Amino acid sequence: MTGVGAAKGMAIGKAVIQYEIPEIIARKCLDPAMEVGKLEQALQTSEQQLDNLIATQKADPRGEADIFVAHKMFFSDPDLLEKIKEKILVEQVTAEWAVKAVFGDYMEIFSAMGNTYMQERVVDLKDVAERIIRNILGKPSIDYNGIAAESILIVKELTPSIMASIPKDKIQGIIMEEGGLTSHTIILANLFEIPTIIRAGSLSNIHNGDEVLVNGDTGEFFVNPEKKVNTEFREKMAVLIAHKKALRSFVGQASHSKDGIKVEIACNIGEPEDVAIVKQNDGEAIGLYRSEFLYMNRLAPPTEEEQFSAYAKVLKDMQGKKVIIRTLDVGGDKALDYLKITTEENPFLGYRAIRYCLEHPEIFKTQLRALLRASIYGQLLIMIPMISGVEEVRNVKAILLELKKEMQAKSIPFAADIKFGIMIEVPAAAIISDILAKEVDFFSIGTNDLIQYTIAVDRMNSKVARLYSAYHPAVLRLIYQVVQNAHQAGIWVGMCGAAAGESSLVPLWLGMGVDEFSVTPSSVLEVRALLTELNSKYWRQQVADILASASSEEVMEKLKELKAKDARARAND
Ligand code: PEP
Ligand code: MG
Repeated sequence: MTGVGAAKGMAIGKAVIQYEIPEIIARKCLDPAMEVGKLEQALQTSEQQLDNLIATQKADPRGEADIFVAHKMFFSDPDLLEKIKEKILVEQVTAEWAVKAVFGDYMEIFSAMGNTYMQERVVDLKDVAERIIRNILGKPSIDYNGIAAESILIVKELTPSIMASIPKDKIQGIIMEEGGLTSHTIILANLFEIPTIIRAGSLSNIHNGDEVLVNGDTGEFFVNPEKKVNTEFREKMAVLIAHKKALRSFVGQASHSKDGIKVEIACNIGEPEDVAIVKQNDGEAIGLYRSEFLYMNRLAPPTEEEQFSAYAKVLKDMQGKKVIIRTLDVGGDKALDYLKITTEENPFLGYRAIRYCLEHPEIFKTQLRALLRASIYGQLLIMIPMISGVEEVRNVKAILLELKKEMQAKSIPFAADIKFGIMIEVPAAAIISDILAKEVDFFSIGTNDLIQYTIAVDRMNSKVARLYSAYHPAVLRLIYQVVQNAHQAGIWVGMCGAAAGESSLVPLWLGMGVDEFSVTPSSVLEVRALLTELNSKYWRQQVADILASASSEEVMEKLKELKAKDARARAND
């Protein structure tokens, strides 16, 4: 069977299914007493699950036991539980509907209280209701504590926040029925090096415990395969492991083209602990720390202190090397219940990132203050996402200046020369990059979003996924324009979207003059190895020809031909 390979690598393990539950609608039941029995059983199971979660989370230094302790409190509310039973018996409805309806009423009451604490409890109520309903239906959530060490997760689609919390040491591979190639879930799968396949179609014929083979490079997967397929797969996997081992010879080497043009290979990370993976892969800097992951899987935004310790840890651990921390990029596919960004028709075009931050100074200033305070521990660069116009840049600079003055007045130290940059991920910003370049110290091109906004193709929508392409000539022309404008203004330009690490495009980026490649840590050595084979002068001469292509397909063809030519020329050197 085949889907789309979204995170590279191969894996073998036992299937663990995340069951979908149907939409719960108001339905009469035949036997109310039996429904009450189902409810009582489900409540008991749910409480047991929460006890187990609390115990394991308490044992984990990064655990979040408090969340589950809060969830358990609802089980000691006799009023709530009585109301559910009463609803089943009086209205003769199913247990799952009674839970949904009664919890729904509570959620409305809590939301209306206008009190932050009570509003935060709405998220808890939603989670608890889902847990009980899943147990009534016999489709419980996966018990990640209890699963085997070599598991393959089978799921319709994973949200970034669930992805951030799965046990990375146990999940060897993931297959999803749906999913977007540059969704934040996939970005995390790459970071954690979990081979992942998306858009695999219906997976209902896979059962818990089936043997599953995942090839994240090709998108192929096999369920309980015959011996021959199994053997061939294991042989391929051994070759892949050997290749990875061979790449280790590039550890400690400088990153440059064959003709000596130096570039920087930095890494994208999601949390402070990821610095360890960066170091293992010899990343030269942090080109993008997506700070929003610090805001996920919790009930309220992180405090200034929490943020300060996270940022300071990354800066200290990177020992003076460049660390670009991107300010909160919330919205789009990264919804946070407690920020109350209501459902939008077009979330990626809506209340996102800097647009949200500039309207919520209390949240934004807390983050900037934490960043400034942490800056004394290393080489911090601050980067702003989703910039679409010069006013946003100037507004952020003014806020930063104001905060610096406040801190100076209070004798709170911060680094003297914190570089300030922006992401170029909206076509408007790319088009006026000559103007923006005069305002900032650096650019980082976010191809994931730049592609979606340029081609008008939602990066999450499977139905239009075939249109999403980093090879589209319109995208490439914009990128070249940005690189030229940056260099003309004397600033450097990096690239931190997934295309930065795409082997077939790396020669083009080198030819265009991209100064920094920020990639998922597992790609550092691959990109470094590739660069040492490329002649920058040759690729610079090919840029105009590639940009004259009529379509993505033509670009791909040209890149292939030119690569073969470059290789032949090298062979004759
Ligand atoms: C991008 O858009 O390319 C990017 C790096 O940001 P994110 O993927 O987090 O939106
Ligand atoms: Mg982006």
